[in-house]
Amino acid sequence: MQAYQPTIDRLKSQGIHSVLTQFCDIHGVAKGKLVPVDNLKEWVEQGAGFAGPSIWGTGLPRYGARSEYYGRVQLDSLQALPFMPGIAHAVCDGYAGGEALSTCSRQMLKSVLQRIQDRGWTLWVGIEPEFFLLNKGQDGQWQVADAADQLDKPSYDLKAIHRNAAFLDEMRQTLTQLGFELQQIDHEDACGQYEINYKFDDALAAADRYMLFKMTAHVVAEKHGMVFSCMPKPVATAPGSGLHFHLSITDAQGLAIFTDPQGALGLSQQGHQFAAGLLYHADALSALCAPTVNSYKRLASSNSASGTTWSPVWKSYGDNNRTCVVRTVAGRIEWRLPDPSCNVYAAIAGTLAAGLSGMDQKLVPPAPCNEDLYERRAQGLAMPARLPTNLDAAVNALEADVTLCHAVGDDFCAEFIKLKRAEWDAYSLQVSDWELRRYADAF
Ligand code: GLU
Ligand code: MG
Ligand code: MG
Repeated sequence: MQAYQPTIDRLKSQGIHSVLTQFCDIHGVAKGKLVPVDNLKEWVEQGAGFAGPSIWGTGLPRYGARSEYYGRVQLDSLQALPFMPGIAHAVCDGYAGGEALSTCSRQMLKSVLQRIQDRGWTLWVGIEPEFFLLNKGQDGQWQVADAADQLDKPSYDLKAIHRNAAFLDEMRQTLTQLGFELQQIDHEDACGQYEINYKFDDALAAADRYMLFKMTAHVVAEKHGMVFSCMPKPVATAPGSGLHFHLSITDAQGLAIFTDPQGALGLSQQGHQFAAGLLYHADALSALCAPTVNSYKRLASSNSASGTTWSPVWKSYGDNNRTCVVRTVAGRIEWRLPDPSCNVYAAIAGTLAAGLSGMDQKLVPPAPCNEDLYERRAQGLAMPARLPTNLDAAVNALEADVTLCHAVGDDFCAEFIKLKRAEWDAYSLQVSDWELRRYADAF
């Protein structure tokens, strides 16, 4: 009997006939196919085969042995999908020519994580997904699905929670069945915007879980006649969506190495150095953590009716200061730069590589910021250095930060920079309504 037979038998006894072999493309989008569970050995040892050049960012040639992308099933990830009876979900790693594919973001995260595993450390990440529920109006234009309340401050709005109780409860049930430990569900700062929080996990599991979260949300929202949107800033005049990472590292004894109750901001020296690494590499990290044209519309302080967007704008850090890109909270580091349009594997890999370089080089962060930076800006006072203001600047910063690219993965970064530059070029050719209104008869 082959080694996989007990697993196949167990899955079949649960009524499972097929495996959804899911991998992640360079843009962070889940891709995959359905394959019979009986051939599990093949999916694990060789991988489910895909045409490499048909997947964004593999860098694979159009013909020859290495043109094939193989998604190898990670056995420990197999679990029944509540919304697809008979199907088990499996996370896959990318391979080509029998070798780990360096442009596969999951492989890349694993190799950056290896650097801390070699030290006996574990990175824990709590991912905080914010998202909008959208749909298309009769005019075919995207709109917020539920904007019944035109509130200036819709944070924690209960009426919207009541109206969307069926969607939210199905999310709760499905995520719970998938093993998520839910912590809270709330209405965020924009009409039609929600956040669902669940327990942190080790970095790789947290990234895999977030992919499953997105898949679940897409399916459940569609069932309820809405679109789950990871677009960072769908409404120009409302706050955008972030995907904050709460970061901590434990050593071999399980002690949190960033935490020191006696230290400034409750952080140890290593915690400060990690934060300094994030700030030092923040420009380049913007490309990985906030990777779309639209991401930079989120990173603005005050274009919402309620006055603030709570998104990070300046390279600063402070204790429980939501106007900083690094917010320290109870001996942890909250990294507020990422938004939900990121490839979560690449964003975590970049974040860890930057933080580690801060520790290895014993970088010292700037003085902590104890004030509301939005207000400081409104008063016209001198500000900390700003994060990049558009995708072009962020991509240029990533390309210029050769140390970070090398620490993250040169092959991935080269593909990523190529694609993101093309995205920026395509955007630059657009003439927007704003430009016509402003310039058409202005001169
Ligand atoms: N929506 C904000 C952002 O874009 C964050 C709000 C919060 O702190 O929860 O990052
Ligand atoms: Mg939030
Ligand atoms: Mg947060």
